[in-house]
This record gives sequence, structure tokens and C-alpha cells, in this order.
Amino acid sequence: MRRIIDITLPLQDGMTYWPGTLPPSLEWVRTMASGDIVNASDYHGSVHNGTHVDAPLHHLANAPAVESLSLDVLIGPCQVIYLPDADEISAAHLERLPELERAERVLFRTRNSDLWAANMRHECPMDYVALTPDAAQWIVDHNIRLVGTDHLNIQRSMDSTETHKILLRAGVVVVEAVYLAGVEPATYELICLPVKMLGAEGAPARAILIA
Ligand SMILES: [Zn+2]
Repeated sequence: MRRIIDITLPLQDGMTYWPGTLPPSLEWVRTMASGDIVNASDYHGSVHNGTHVDAPLHHLANAPAVESLSLDVLIGPCQVIYLPDADEISAAHLERLPELERAERVLFRTRNSDLWAANMRHECPMDYVALTPDAAQWIVDHNIRLVGTDHLNIQRSMDSTETHKILLRAGVVVVEAVYLAGVEPATYELICLPVKMLGAEGAPARAILIA
């Protein structure tokens, strides 16, 4: 029987967000408890809150926005790799992973997922695990079409924007802050659907794995 694993962080008030961006919040503007005929809320936040997808426009001028990302890439077989001891993900790490040789999509589970599991409201770390620029180039060179990591930024805080640029320039779909605590490394079917926000450089997504 198929098993569906939700790898989406629940968007919520107070959750960890990237410093300098608008944190997610739900503002109740009408409530039945106060006599309204409906409950209705306004959502405030950055498109980079929680589990989300970056489009090329995020780092490249006049580049495609999120609505133009290919559904063919956002849905399909996906390798989950577990690197519990990694402090960063470099080309040298990827070279040692034979399961990536024919992969089209890859998600990296690292110690980042443990931070979310312990506390959805942890202080956003700057030593989160992410891809080095040479890993980004390795992914492009190996024709991987989608890559995701389990914190809010796919590039390391000490690097320039090169990691993003290498991936987005090559049309690789970047997924950030997938929640992979407890997810076994294996091949799954990924369905990752960013909200169709016209012209936006990224969008929150619902992401699931089917085992
Ligand atoms: Zn982002």
C-alpha cells in the first residue's frame, strides 16, 4: 500500500523565518466567536516562509517567475539522501553517492531537520547545512533538475549568492525548508506544488513524498 509522507513545514505564527523578511502570520479579520457570520483571515508573510520553491527570478534579472516552473520537474521520482554528520554539502559528498548517478530530483536530509523537529520556533541558525557552490555545479553537470534542502536557504550563510545563481541559471528548481525528520533515505515519488503566484520570485509549496 502506498504511504504518503508530508514533508511540508506547517506555516504558523512565530515559526522560524529568514532574518529581515516578513514572518508568517494569520490575522483574523472576522470571527464567528465575535458575532460574524464567517471566520476569515488575512495572511501576511514572505514567499520564502516555510517550505517553498525559488524561481530563477529570485537571483537573476528578467528571469522566469514561479508560475512558469515546469510541473514535469516538480512531480516525479526523487532521491532522499541522509547526511547526518555533514556541516555542508559539497561536490566531494555528492561524488560518493552512487544513488545520485541517475537521479533527476534530490532532497537532502541533514541535521537541519532535527532543529525543526525539536522546535518550529528555533532561532534561525547561521550554521545550517547547505550546498557549496561546487555542489551546485555538480548538480547542474549531472543533469539533476530539482534539488532541495531542509533549511530556509540552499546556500551557506558565508557564501556569496553563487550557489543559487548556478542552480537557477541552469533551470534547476530549488526547494527550501523541506521537512525530512525521520524520512528514510530512499527513492520516492515527489509532488511539490508551489502556489501559482503570478510574477513572484518564489512561493510556498505543499510538498509530499509517496513511498
Ligand atoms: Zn527562498
